[in-house]
Amino acid sequence: MQLAYRVFDLPLKHVFRISRGATSVQPTFIVQLSHDDQHGYGEATTNRYYNATAAAMAAALESVRHLVESADPLQPDALLDRVSSALGGDNQFALAALDLALHDLHGKLKGEPLHRLWGWELADVPASNYTIGIDTIESMVAKLNQMPGWPVYKIKLGTPDDLAIVRELREHTSAAFRVDANCGWTVEQTIRYAPQMAELGVEFIEQPLPAADRDGAAEVRHGSALPIIADESCVVEDDVQHCIGRFDGINIKLTKCGGMAPARRMIDHAKSAGMKVMMGCMTESSVGISAIAQFLPALDYVDMDGAALIATDIADGAKVIQGRCQFPSGNGTGVSLHDGPLATDCRQIESTVDEIETQT
Ligand SMILES: [Mg+2]
Repeated sequence: MQLAYRVFDLPLKHVFRISRGATSVQPTFIVQLSHDDQHGYGEATTNRYYNATAAAMAAALESVRHLVESADPLQPDALLDRVSSALGGDNQFALAALDLALHDLHGKLKGEPLHRLWGWELADVPASNYTIGIDTIESMVAKLNQMPGWPVYKIKLGTPDDLAIVRELREHTSAAFRVDANCGWTVEQTIRYAPQMAELGVEFIEQPLPAADRDGAAEVRHGSALPIIADESCVVEDDVQHCIGRFDGINIKLTKCGGMAPARRMIDHAKSAGMKVMMGCMTESSVGISAIAQFLPALDYVDMDGAALIATDIADGAKVIQGRCQFPSGNGTGVSLHDGPLATDCRQIESTVDEIETQT
């Protein structure tokens, strides 16, 4: 098996703003694993906040190159256990990119899409939301109107005008809403907002409180009129047990949890505890989105609009059109790069921009 990687700069359709800055380009780290003329692809967007710069991810992969290149691609779980131990939890983003590439290659070598290898049927899969980032109310309405026809919109909140934002957006669509406070509310606010949000057609609240506030989470879950989904409180596998009894469900990000292998264990753990399962994305290409698509049969909710936010994609694979996933015909995750496979010795990590987090 040969390991190659390259950073691509994904141009965004719109400038993306968060508290730490703004960007119109999202650099993304693409891993390619090759064996017997088949190529598997994985992706992790670069993210300085999580110390997942391109240089850090390349260094992490170089430290395990000998393990990867000498391993049997038909035994992905054994290799990923060894790589995960070797990296010691220090670079989940690099691990995730490698994990996705290995699973994709495994499926391609076996001649099956991953969901089929995992025994999941594609009937009755959930539709994705489209995420509307925080902005002025007028701009949030404009963002909604630019993307009509999605069955669900996820509204980012955590402003002094949260109820006014949802009320105004409700004037412009009959689609379902979900809201994501990104840790920006208090216990009292969450319990007070929940019935009003429910009346406005909101189906759940994502991460109202800071991740560290476990007592508050239990209180909110007890008092909230709406289900509460953990995001920042459920980053890696070990977090699931702390969410039991404190949340109604969890939102898994492949990039942050370390890839498909830990994500599958998180799904099993959450479901056995009676929790709902959602999967979310970063602002990423169809490489990452096609990996999420393989999980759809196991999910209650999904946020996979990442590739809809970029102006020029780098890959063909799963497509999300007005929330509905069109599955690719290929095996593995079904993804291929527009410009063809990378050279099998490619190790290119230059980017034109500084990284900020563009998670949807
Ligand atoms: Mg979130």
